[in-house]
Amino acid sequence: MIGGGIGSSDNSIMRESRQLVPLLNIDSPHTWSAMEVRKLRQNLLRWYRRYRRPLPWRDTPTPYRVWISEIMLQQTQAKTAIPYYSRFLERFPDVESLAGALEHDVMELWSGLGYYSRARNLHRAAKLIIEKYGEFPRDFPEILALPGIGRYTAGAICSLAFNQAQPVVDGNVRRVITRLEGIRSGAREAFFWDRMSAWIPEKQPSDFNQAVMELGAMVCVPSHPLCSRCPVEGLCEARRLGIQEAIPAVRTRRAAQQTPVVLLILEAKNRILLTSLQKLAIVPGQWGLPCSRFLHGES
Ligand code: SF4
Repeated sequence: MIGGGIGSSDNSIMRESRQLVPLLNIDSPHTWSAMEVRKLRQNLLRWYRRYRRPLPWRDTPTPYRVWISEIMLQQTQAKTAIPYYSRFLERFPDVESLAGALEHDVMELWSGLGYYSRARNLHRAAKLIIEKYGEFPRDFPEILALPGIGRYTAGAICSLAFNQAQPVVDGNVRRVITRLEGIRSGAREAFFWDRMSAWIPEKQPSDFNQAVMELGAMVCVPSHPLCSRCPVEGLCEARRLGIQEAIPAVRTRRAAQQTPVVLLILEAKNRILLTSLQKLAIVPGQWGLPCSRFLHGES
């Protein structure tokens, strides 16, 4: 991702500038004329065709490939997901092969990617698709009803694979809209979906959705957006007001929790006892040393 972190002194400046920015009323956001919407679409589509990253899931956007990539990209950066995606597609090239796989094999390929319920849901959904439809469904409500698929992923599959005018809203899209609109706070989730629904064109909805997400990933980045390279700079309220660095407000992260554990190493005849782990495993069901949570005061 382009753009780096900010130092502590920059942080304090940022905090001050945020405090000085008066709040806009979200009930009266910027009204877009038809000409502005047309310009927004044209500029974004032109920029996307020229500058989009050559990501492997963009080569052949079948519903299966879009689905796998979108699930992998949840909470995961593209560069991390790419090798997992390639290995997964090599082993399970289509929904039939995934539906027929053992859960253990699916989890093994997911190992290291985190958020393991994603892999279990993929497997469950693949079985369901084959049992119920025989092939990947095309309708938004049917896709949305599959395990592990929310509005964003269903929209991505419909638009990217089937070229249906279904909007998507992820973190990148939210940030781009927040800045284009110059919103300091108070925007509800429905607002972002409404905006994307109004902007998405009937022609090329796939490229439009990807263009907004790509802009958020490469140009309208969280810290120090690259406004001078932005194709929609002239339409951006935050840029006009000079507040693009101050919005959206940064959310404070929860501190990571540590869990002390005790491990049992039992060795006999050159063999070590392993057990199928559940609660304390990174991948539930994975094999590891017997272990349990270490409670304070235990010896
Ligand atoms: Fe983001 Fe800057 Fe473009 Fe506005 S002009 S959308 S803040 S990159």
